Amino acid sequence: MITRTAPSWHTEDWQIELSGAVRNVETLWQALDLPANSLPAALAAHRDFPVRVPRAFLAKIEKGNPDDPLLKQILPVMAETEHSPGFVADPLAERNANRQTGLLHKYQSRVLLVLGGTCAINCRYCFRRHFPYEDNRLGPEDLAGIQAYLTDQPDVNEVILSGGDPLVTSNARLSALLDLIEAVPHISRLRIHTRLPVVIPQRVDQGLLQRLGQSRLNCVLVTHCNHPQELDTDFDHAMNLLKRQGVTLLNQAVLLRGVNDSVATQVALSERLFSAGVLPYYLHLLDPVAGAHHFDVPESEARTLMQAVHAALPGFLIPRLVREVPGQPGKSLIDLHLT
Ligand SMILES: *Cc1c(COP(=O)(O)O)cnc(C)c1O
Ligand code: SF4
Repeated sequence: MITRTAPSWHTEDWQIELSGAVRNVETLWQALDLPANSLPAALAAHRDFPVRVPRAFLAKIEKGNPDDPLLKQILPVMAETEHSPGFVADPLAERNANRQTGLLHKYQSRVLLVLGGTCAINCRYCFRRHFPYEDNRLGPEDLAGIQAYLTDQPDVNEVILSGGDPLVTSNARLSALLDLIEAVPHISRLRIHTRLPVVIPQRVDQGLLQRLGQSRLNCVLVTHCNHPQELDTDFDHAMNLLKRQGVTLLNQAVLLRGVNDSVATQVALSERLFSAGVLPYYLHLLDPVAGAHHFDVPESEARTLMQAVHAALPGFLIPRLVREVPGQPGKSLIDLHLT
């Protein structure tokens, strides 16, 4: 339980963590005692998509265990540099849905804003690892355009902040963006998709809590956690603080070979999330992005896995198994009973 002595966090707390993330392959190898012979391949993969790991995430990795489920998510490996048929740079064809800088409007009632290109952690399986963030970052000059776009779309009632990681953005910038969204009367919901509260829970600082708490928008925060070992008591505290501001808490995960592709792990993840007040939302099949084929779990195997998860958990702790198919009006739900 949260006691009165539980911390309240300030901007410096998380910015120190953020800037102190390991971004150098050699440092990573030293910190984790990794074998020297895998270093050259790692450096090659790192040139394509740089390493970035917050210290707290690093501390949760078991040294000397090559199968550690957290290690696999951040470790650059040889397989990333190999080609695999069907695995491409822009698997979701997002470049086509780019209505204007920083805005993706693919689904009917919701618009997604790409806020900033960086993340606190670089996940090796990320479907945006080749996304041209640099040409597509919301700058101050784009804000008026975003507001005009939203005003013109009466069917849109929800704005999703995504990235990169939208919570890398400062509270001041987020707040200015919220002002603008709140000024569009038909927008009733704000959703934030972020991995930051998982890897640096201190990001849920007082400024953020205050701003979300005072918003007229119905706020939803979707965390991104793939394995229960990513979560700790700081995460629990962050979720509790958000909940007290009336924020709805959901989680999405990606089904990853060698990380969370077992029934026991999926069950433990749902249980652990719920203990922090978070409901599972989506379990995504991997998007076929170049460099991530070694994480792929075939759909038939995913279906079998989720059937067993269904048997083990109450319905409200079962994430929807989905895949994103370019051109579809929403995420495609995988039917578990097709076999
Ligand atoms: C995933 C996604 C959404 C949100 O989809 P939900 O099913 O509402 O979670 C919205 N816009 C884009 C571009 C997306 O990729
Ligand atoms: S935090 Fe999300 S967007 Fe960033 S690298 Fe990881 S999966 Fe990709």
